Amino acid sequence: MTGTCQVCGSAKVADYVRHDEGRYPRCPDCGLIFNAQSDQLFAQALRKYDSASYFAGYERRLARKLRAAREQLDLVQTFVASGTLLNIGCGAGDTLVAAREAGFDAIWLDVGAYSVRHCRKLGFDVIQASLTDIGLRDASVDVVAMWDVLEHIPCTAAGLREVARVLRPDGIAAAVVPSGEYLKAHLLRRTHQNYRGEWAKTHFVYHNERTLRRVFAQSGLKPRRLPLLHRGALRRGAAIAACEAAVALPRYLFGSIRSGARLTRNLFVVAVREPA
Ligand SMILES: [Zn+2]
Repeated sequence: MTGTCQVCGSAKVADYVRHDEGRYPRCPDCGLIFNAQSDQLFAQALRKYDSASYFAGYERRLARKLRAAREQLDLVQTFVASGTLLNIGCGAGDTLVAAREAGFDAIWLDVGAYSVRHCRKLGFDVIQASLTDIGLRDASVDVVAMWDVLEHIPCTAAGLREVARVLRPDGIAAAVVPSGEYLKAHLLRRTHQNYRGEWAKTHFVYHNERTLRRVFAQSGLKPRRLPLLHRGALRRGAAIAACEAAVALPRYLFGSIRSGARLTRNLFVVAVREPA
């Protein structure tokens, strides 16, 4: 036995991955996978985010991450077209660039000294603070964007409650997290990077679609269905709108098949801040 599940409270959790680099129990009732040593590892992980070496891979993948950030913000703009966007976890600055292009007034926040320094050099004004203690006023932002962030804190609900606090009623929280149901990671879990090396020291929770939606809802953030058409992209002109419309249904069907077959590496959720 290895404690209780933070999402459903089940006490039946049992080891899912266990080797010399870490131990990840899994809840049989809801499927949540979590790092059994997260309390000890969390403080060490925070120190890693101060160093440039942690972000070396980010720099290499900057063009791809920028493309992904643009697509994610297109989806966000389907729900909230403009206003104040808080980006938590600035990394190498890709979302900062995409949010500025999309016309948001943005607030940038990162816990690590490296990202803060790096993004300030790019001309952005970044606050150094953590997801669980954002330090902004209640109901002061319209959108919170968290790409590849929630898996880095031991208790997802603690972060989401703070996100709900700073969001205005009907504001939007959007997140991307690695999927705990990704088939390749499941089949090769003894050797897969999700549970090895750097990630075994910095990834504390792997959600599936159900646990992610449930923990958002428990935190006052109601998950929404993603739109067939990305209305954010439609605003970019007739040619892009026509392309968007042509690919919407095939993209939806392809996405559903991939998700059903557990071939999706990441989960994406958009949720609305419910009025208090
Ligand atoms: Zn559970």
